[in-house]
Amino acid sequence: MLLSPATERSLRLIYQEADAAVEGAGPVCRSSGRCCRFREWGHTLFLSRHEAEFLLEGAPDFEGPVDDSFCPFQMGNVCTAREHRPLGCRVYFCDPGYQNTMQDIMEVGITKLKALATREPAGWEYGPLHRFLQEHLDKKQSETPGDS
Ligand code: SF4
Repeated sequence: MLLSPATERSLRLIYQEADAAVEGAGPVCRSSGRCCRFREWGHTLFLSRHEAEFLLEGAPDFEGPVDDSFCPFQMGNVCTAREHRPLGCRVYFCDPGYQNTMQDIMEVGITKLKALATREPAGWEYGPLHRFLQEHLDKKQSETPGDS
């Protein structure tokens, strides 16, 4: 599924609004990079199918298998898919004083993502990052001549 230009514009707008809300809240980030090493940090990154498509459009190639322990786009504490990273990555910060605001910003963003998805043929689907990434790798492999 490739995103239509209109869907991509809507998604970018949702992200811009979330980025502005986060900037307004001003959470502290010490750039530890732990938030992208999921198992170490004890959380799971969820995203919608449309977000996964957008992420995969802009992210560098990666190798599998992938699981729920880390994000393959983190290199040396830096996100190599920054412009295309999903809502959860944009809004999540470990700053203890920001947690309630973070939930509010996430809720607003997810409501917008759902509204966008329900206007699209693929509909709403929300899942963990590694599931979408592994699905992408499996599809790529099945399309490789001689590998099916
Ligand atoms: S997409 Fe970027 S910000 Fe999000 S988990 Fe991966 S490396 Fe971290």
